Amino acid sequence: MSKQESRQGHHHPRSLSGPALRTKAIESLLVEKGLLASDAIDRVVEIYENEVGPLNGAKVVARAWCDPEYKRRLLRDGTSAIAELGFGGMQGEHMVVVENTPRVHNVICCTLCSCYPWPILGLPPAWYKSLAYRSRIVREPRAVLHEFGLDLPDSVEIRVWDSSAEIRYMVLPQRPPGSAKLSEAQLASLVTRDALVGVGLVKLP
Ligand code: FE
Repeated sequence: MSKQESRQGHHHPRSLSGPALRTKAIESLLVEKGLLASDAIDRVVEIYENEVGPLNGAKVVARAWCDPEYKRRLLRDGTSAIAELGFGGMQGEHMVVVENTPRVHNVICCTLCSCYPWPILGLPPAWYKSLAYRSRIVREPRAVLHEFGLDLPDSVEIRVWDSSAEIRYMVLPQRPPGSAKLSEAQLASLVTRDALVGVGLVKLP
C-alpha cells in the first residue's frame, strides 16, 4: 500500500473539530518527515499544563510586594525582571506588567484568540479562550467582573489589555490589607491565577 492509500484509509473520529483535525494532520506530517518527535510535543504540553501554572506568576508578585526596587524593574521591563526569577521563554518573550492601584484595575484578555503568558501562568483556562469572555470583557468589563464575583466601585477605572502575538500582559494585583507580617512565600501562596489575569483580587484567607 502506498503512503497516499494508507493516509486515505485512516479515519479520524468524527468528534474532532476542524482546527483539531488540522492540528493532528500537521503533527502527523511533521513526525512522518522526521521534523518533530511526538513525545516532544507531549512533553511541552505536560510542562505547561502541570509544571508551570500560575505559581510562577505568584512568585513574581510576592517578590514585587516585598522588594520595591524589584517592583520598579518589573513595571519598567517585565520580561527581564521576570527572567531574574528564572521564568521566561515561549509565549513570554515580551512581557508587560500592569499594576493595580486603588484607582485603576487591570484585566487581560486576547480578543483575537487565546494569547496568554505561558511561562508565568501556564496554559489559559477554557473561559479565557471563550468567545464570550474575549468579546464581552472589552464591551462590558464591569458586568463580566461581576460574574466572576468581583464588584469594583465606580470610582475605579477598569483598563482592559488585549494581548497580541508579541506582547503578553500580567496583572500586578494590590497587596491585601493586613498582610504586612507575611513572608514572601506566604504572600505568594495567596496569589491566584484569577488575580494575575485581573478577574479577581488577592485576599487573606
Ligand atoms: Fe491570541
